[in-house]
Amino acid sequence: MKLVLIGAPAAGKGTQAARLVKHYGIAHISTGDMLREEVAKGTELGKQAQSVMAAGGLVSDELIIAIVKERIQQDDCKNGFILDGFPRTVVQAEKLEEMVKLDKVVYINAPDEVMLERLTARQTCPKCGATYNKLFLPSKVEGVCDVCGTALTQRKDDTEEAGRKRIQTFHEQSEPLVGFYGEKGILIEVDGMMPIDEITKAIINGLDA
Ligand SMILES: [Zn+2]
Repeated sequence: MKLVLIGAPAAGKGTQAARLVKHYGIAHISTGDMLREEVAKGTELGKQAQSVMAAGGLVSDELIIAIVKERIQQDDCKNGFILDGFPRTVVQAEKLEEMVKLDKVVYINAPDEVMLERLTARQTCPKCGATYNKLFLPSKVEGVCDVCGTALTQRKDDTEEAGRKRIQTFHEQSEPLVGFYGEKGILIEVDGMMPIDEITKAIINGLDA
């Protein structure tokens, strides 16, 4: 099963991707996480990506396409995969079509203000990588990691200013993907305002139909 997950930042893509990965036994490919790993490792690629991402922008097509192409050929993608964070533009979607035939594309839709509120509430542990959200997954002690006791931090691109910019970028560059995949008849649109379990159910119903 080869899937793409579309949604603005904080629409709930990561949460749903994790559930679909478990349900179908497929690989989760988050281009954002892959890039952040490169940044953390301090690779050349990471350095290129870092400045762009900190400002809420997008890394170049060439760079991201090369990363995805390599990634989907790895062993854990044999049963399929779910792409999260790629493609972000119709140009990227066209490139992806040359690489692989997708089965379905899932679009999680939610209002801007809700996404912004969720996004700025996210917290990450810089030591162990655990993630929290002040709205629906708070740490037991505010600002402290449950797992390792380290002070939690906010990702640079989860501030209100960068968040607004990322959401706007989504509307300008990524929303056309909804029409692109809709025309191909492989789009499943779900309401991101439903409870998390309901969203999962709606997606799986759509995929199994
Ligand atoms: Zn921790």
